[in-house]
Amino acid sequence: MKTSVLVVGGGLAGTSAALFLAWRGVDVTLVEKHPGSSPHPRAVGFNARVGELLRAVGMEDRLPPSRMTKGFGVRRVRAESLVGKRFDETFWTPPAELSDIEYSPSTGVGVAQDRMEPILRDKARELGADIRMSTRMLEFSQDADGVTAIVQGDGEPYEIRADYLVAADGHRSPIREALGITRTGRGYMHTSRSVLFRAPLQEYLKDGIGQFVIDDVGFLTTYGDGRWVLMLDDREYTEPELREKIVRAIGRDDLEIEIITTGRWTISAGVADRFSAGRIFLAGDAAHTLPPSRGGFGANVGIEDAHNLAWKLAAVLNGESRPELLDTYDVERRPVASLCHQQIFARNDGHNRGTDPEDAPLYDNYAMHYGILYRSSAVLGAGEELPPAQRPEQWNGQPGTRAPHVWVGPGKSTLDLFQRGWVLVADHPEWEEAAQQAGVQYERVEQLDVFGLSEKGASLVRSDGYIAWRSTDLPNDPSEVLRAAFSSSSAGTR
Ligand SMILES: Cc1cc2nc3c(=O)[nH]c(=O)nc-3n(C[C@H](O)[C@H](O)[C@H](O)COP(=O)(O)OP(=O)(O)OC[C@H]3O[C@@H](n4cnc5c(N)ncnc54)[C@H](O)[C@@H]3O)c2cc1C
Repeated sequence: MKTSVLVVGGGLAGTSAALFLAWRGVDVTLVEKHPGSSPHPRAVGFNARVGELLRAVGMEDRLPPSRMTKGFGVRRVRAESLVGKRFDETFWTPPAELSDIEYSPSTGVGVAQDRMEPILRDKARELGADIRMSTRMLEFSQDADGVTAIVQGDGEPYEIRADYLVAADGHRSPIREALGITRTGRGYMHTSRSVLFRAPLQEYLKDGIGQFVIDDVGFLTTYGDGRWVLMLDDREYTEPELREKIVRAIGRDDLEIEIITTGRWTISAGVADRFSAGRIFLAGDAAHTLPPSRGGFGANVGIEDAHNLAWKLAAVLNGESRPELLDTYDVERRPVASLCHQQIFARNDGHNRGTDPEDAPLYDNYAMHYGILYRSSAVLGAGEELPPAQRPEQWNGQPGTRAPHVWVGPGKSTLDLFQRGWVLVADHPEWEEAAQQAGVQYERVEQLDVFGLSEKGASLVRSDGYIAWRSTDLPNDPSEVLRAAFSSSSAGTR
């Protein structure tokens, strides 16, 4: 069979890739070797930037909002037990200063991974993605024109020929290994066991604290739906031993506890040294394994990879952009993964066991979620002198950053103007005419100050909602200037 994009792996990154590609009208097929999601969730918090991406594909109303205060992670304390004495609260280093600015129309999503994956999968299918569960990719090869994969479901192995392949096959990524792509980072850190259980403990969550470092037991947290997870050292536990650990962690032995399942997790950190090889692109944990942190840098970053890649693949496949645009996937996303890796260890986020935090500048979550800077040929005017992340108001419409949010009507954000194609944001008839001539959608926005513009200026926004270019003045020939900027940043074929 033939498909435009073959996605291998139906975790959060792969399913998001299928969703974003299908939403852009791309013929996409996904293969996942398991019949469904793992019953033991890992991620639970999805930040507001991911909320924005899901809002764009019309999913926001299907998803429960995040329990995180302003997207800043659940509070964590060290405690004798859940019901016992609580000691110091562990903060960011330094604690993030809360901003009064409303950065986003979205709140983020508070749903456990085993529920999130099927929601994304259903939406991807609804949009036309061909999702084949219980189907394993056995081997692959690529040539100048495409990728050939052999996959197997219930029956005989068969061949899938695709223009491109997205390797979202998890942290061990057999595809990455077969391509000989190495990784850089801390590497293996430790192995943990976990027990997932259900218990009526809701009353202990009232003060907003949701993570508990229990002395002499382990780390206790909740998925917010009656399910809790206790992380333990790496050794075999019998069921009575697990129950005893749970009772000690809770500090009460009079509750009904249902053990759901157990897990064993390798915690490691590494970023692939290349995110692509020919027609194959790594996304999610295949590209970067980042240990659980209070920045939400695991699954969230993988979903953002998928989003960055999807519009580029769509633009190249439909002939609007030359294939060089795809080179910017590695150039834009790899530094983001490296920055997340650095922040996890610089923030002293619980992973520097017995060692000092890494000496590196700290960027708070407003900067990390909404203010990442891309520097690539798909952005004009993002120089090396600029920091890798800042808060949106510090960027003030800098090309290479996410276009800022401001309400432009009841329930309508500037972000709702983007994502379907390239958009020129301005408030001047000459720019409107220029946009028409360049074949770019025009959006009149009165609040140009958040884009760092006066009424003479204009910003060109890419189809992922990032600013590609801006002109702070009205040039003599806006049409020609815009056409050149559009053609260059989009690797345009026209
Ligand atoms: C304990 C724990 C807690 C975490 N908590 C958070 C959190 O709160 N927030 C957060 O953002 N992140 C968190 N993470 C990280 C997050 O879970 C991962 O980043 C995310 O699940 C990775 O998704 P993925 O789709 O890239 O990979 P995976 O979920 O590993 O999916 C890869 C998929 O590829 C499939 N596959 C592999 N090879 C083949 C093949 N040959 N053919 C077909 N299918 C194949 C696998 O079956 C698998 O389903 C946590 C991780 C752990 C371990």
